[in-house]
Amino acid sequence: MKYVGAHVSTSGGVEFAPLNAKAIGATAFGLFTKNQRQWQAKPLTAQSIEAFKANCTQAGYDASHILPHDSYLINLGHPEEEGLAKSRAAFLDEMQRCQQLGLRYLNFHPGSHLKKITESESLARIAQSINMALDQTSGVTALIENTSGQGSNVGYRFEHLAEIIRQVEDKSRVGVCLDTCHTFTAGYDIQNKNGYEETLRQFDRIVGLKYLKALHLNDSKKGVGSRVDRHESIGKGTLGLEIFGCIMNDARLDNLPLILETPDETLWPEEIKLLLSLRKKK
Ligand SMILES: [Zn+2]
Ligand SMILES: [Zn+2]
Repeated sequence: MKYVGAHVSTSGGVEFAPLNAKAIGATAFGLFTKNQRQWQAKPLTAQSIEAFKANCTQAGYDASHILPHDSYLINLGHPEEEGLAKSRAAFLDEMQRCQQLGLRYLNFHPGSHLKKITESESLARIAQSINMALDQTSGVTALIENTSGQGSNVGYRFEHLAEIIRQVEDKSRVGVCLDTCHTFTAGYDIQNKNGYEETLRQFDRIVGLKYLKALHLNDSKKGVGSRVDRHESIGKGTLGLEIFGCIMNDARLDNLPLILETPDETLWPEEIKLLLSLRKKK
């Protein structure tokens, strides 16, 4: 079974996310549990938490198909003590919010070295940051998202993801979210079936498919290996539709949340229908 949705709005409160997802015909959804452009956030109220859980139950969403995303400000691989401490505190807050909401995952961009430390030093900081957050929470798995490798972002090679996981102590609570746009622009050519299969083989060899817990489904404005992170609506970018057909028919990806982060949200209902229509009849 494939669970497809989009990263929906939480305007008015987190409890509106499941309703917004239902309205576009989604069977999975992504959300921010706080304003993603601010460091500080008011704690979730008991009312908001209850309403979120009730709306998820009523609309039929299980925690395994809900993919919260952390703030873009957080850099768990920050080269400087102050920035790192601030990021770690904010990440812990995000993990705790997910725990309060009964969620299973927190998806995050690994971080950036800002050209002040090496990639491997940044990766070690990210792993340590994850260890600290896991120590102080329970039930929530940290999902590292692969990146395009734009600027000084790490996480654009599968080896980076593997290295972070290697240094995480509780391997039962760490995983990966692969973003199709990021994978492609990082240099993995997944435009056709052969490239898709080869990329998944590499992922399995280097990281391990058992760590793959979620996918972001985005087409790309930029080409393979461009290291530029610009999402495009499904079927309208440089990636094309073949890859999405591969994903929708790959039993290894059954039951994972497959989440659109495409730029035109008015197209989400059509994009979900389009993706579901790519499934071959058995
Ligand atoms: Zn993404
Ligand atoms: Zn992106």
